[in-house]
Parts: sequence; structure tokens; C-alpha cells
Amino acid sequence: MAILDIIVPVYNEEAAIQPFYTALTEALHNLDATIHVYFVDDGSRDTTFVEIKKLHQRAQGIHAIKFSRNFGKEIAISAGLKYCKGDAAIVMDIDLQDPPELIPRMLNEWKSGVPVVLAQRSSRASDQVLKSVSAYCFYAFINMFSRIQIPKNVGDFRLLDREVIDALNTLPEKTRFMKGLFAWIGFESTTIHYERPARAHGKTKFSYWKLWNLALQAITSFSDIFIRLSTYFGVIITCLSMGYGAYLVGRTIIHGIQVPGYASLMVVILVSNGIILMTLGVMGEYIARIFIEVKNRPLFVVSHTLGLNADRTPPHNG
Ligand code: UDP
Ligand code: MG
Repeated sequence: MAILDIIVPVYNEEAAIQPFYTALTEALHNLDATIHVYFVDDGSRDTTFVEIKKLHQRAQGIHAIKFSRNFGKEIAISAGLKYCKGDAAIVMDIDLQDPPELIPRMLNEWKSGVPVVLAQRSSRASDQVLKSVSAYCFYAFINMFSRIQIPKNVGDFRLLDREVIDALNTLPEKTRFMKGLFAWIGFESTTIHYERPARAHGKTKFSYWKLWNLALQAITSFSDIFIRLSTYFGVIITCLSMGYGAYLVGRTIIHGIQVPGYASLMVVILVSNGIILMTLGVMGEYIARIFIEVKNRPLFVVSHTLGLNADRTPPHNG
């Protein structure tokens, strides 16, 4: 029988662990696969890990990794994918916004030979308006300016075959925008559609500030648009200033020296300073990315594990 791993990143989700597991077992009770659940506790400060421990003592196939602090959902997913050992894995949120009832359908697609099964939400009706709009702009922007295409309205909820997981685990980067990495590795995929419900317990762990930073990280790691944009800006401004300079020189030669010109001078100085600062900021963004990579720190630090043969280091740390 195939082994299916369920990877669940959790951050301060004490109220959600039990309901999630109940819903999962209900949806999967006559599934033709052995289920292993990998909880990745992303440095929760509530009793999340205690709840996971209770589950581990009472049920079979529960594994857990606890980070020493909050490293973020993207890293938590990476950790789950490094530790899991099954023939395929499904990444899902704990809040039941990724319905476990879809898993049998995803499994059937996989059994028919497709290595990646994506779950695409039909609408963003369960999101706030601001979140839908910002998500729309983000995907439009990143798909216009990066070479890889990231499917819209597809979250991290997806099934990955072992060969895809192994490929992902070879990617060494520390800035891990998972939806981008999933798209980058390619492989044949199929999509199933579903209606995304509202969060079952607790509240969202992503503030708009956190989302903005994620978007910035995603764009700077999957597109060089900003760097090129600043080059174009530089070229355009240089051409314009040279033209204006030539005009000023010509005017001085013909009409002699004139005192006025303070306004135009100020405008040129202020605009070009603004552009220089902006360009420096953009450079900084990319250099920061390089800095993170060259430091070559491990992706995460583990403080506790459950059901992982007391193994503290990831099995294949890429
Ligand atoms: N999560 C995480 N680390 C974080 C933030 C969130 O592991 O720093 C987990 C969270 O516990 C949940 C999943 O990521 O299982 C999705 O988070 P949430 O439902 O808050 O996001 P939303 O659905 O609002 O986008
Ligand atoms: Mg959610």
C-alpha cells in the first residue's frame, strides 16, 4: 500500500490540532493508503506542541518537528518535505481551509500517474476584499515579470510525488518562496477545483505587513525586473539630462549668462536624488538576498521532534 504523508505547518494553533485530526481521519477512514502526518511546529508560543504530543501518544503515524523559534510557513513546509519519507506528500493548512475531503480525489489523480496535483480555489469569496485585490496584483505582477508562471488561486495545498519532493530538496536557497519553487521545478501537473471555506478555528497568522514582505521576497527572488528597471531609469534620466545640458550650453553661448534657473536646478537635483535613492534601495534588496545566501546558515533549527527516530538533523539537508 502506498504511503501518503500529510505535511502541516502550524503556528500558535492549539485550538485547531484536535479538530483538524478528527476531520482528517473522518475524510480518510477508508482510503487506500497508509497516512503519516508530519506537524511542523513553527515556534508556537502556546500549547500547540502539547496538543500534538497528546495526539502522538493516542494515534499512529503522527510525527512532529518543533522549531526553536518562528521561521515562517515557507521554511516549515521545506522542513516537512525534508523529513517525510512517503511515496507522496500533501501540504495543507491546519485551519481546514484546505478541505481533507479533497485528498481521496488528489490521491486518485496521483495513482493515475500524475506527479503533481494542485488544488485550485474557485473564488476568493472567503477572503477579505483587500487580500483578494492584493493577491490579484501580486500574481499579475510576478507572472508578467518572471520567467516562471505561478498558477493563480493555488495555495500550498497540493500533492507531490516522491520524485518531485526529492527535486525540491535539492534546491539550496535560503529564501524560500515555495509557490515559486514548486513552479520552478516543473513536472506534469493536474488541477482540481474546490470552494475554499473560511478558517475553522482561531485567526489568520499573516498580517498585511508579513504578506507584503513575502511578496517582496518572492518578486526579488524570482524576477530581476527591479534591477533592470533601475538600469532603464538611469539610462533615460542620463539621456534627458544630456539633452537639457546641451540646450543650456547652447542657450548660454547664444544669449549669454542668465541668473535665473533656481527652480529647474532644484527639480533636477531632487528628482535625480530620488531616483538614486530608489535605485540604491533596489540594489540593497537584491544584495540582501545574496547576503542571506552566502551566510549559508541552516534553513531552520529544531528544538524537539516526535516519532522521528530521535533524528535531529534533516535526512537530506540540501
Ligand atoms: N503558519 C506557519 N507559520 C507562520 C504563519 C502561519 O506555520 O509564521 C501556518 C498556520 O499555522 C496555518 C498555515 O500556515 O496552518 C496557514 O496560515 P493562515 O491560515 O493563518 O493563513 P491564511 O489562510 O490566512 O493565508
Ligand atoms: Mg488559513
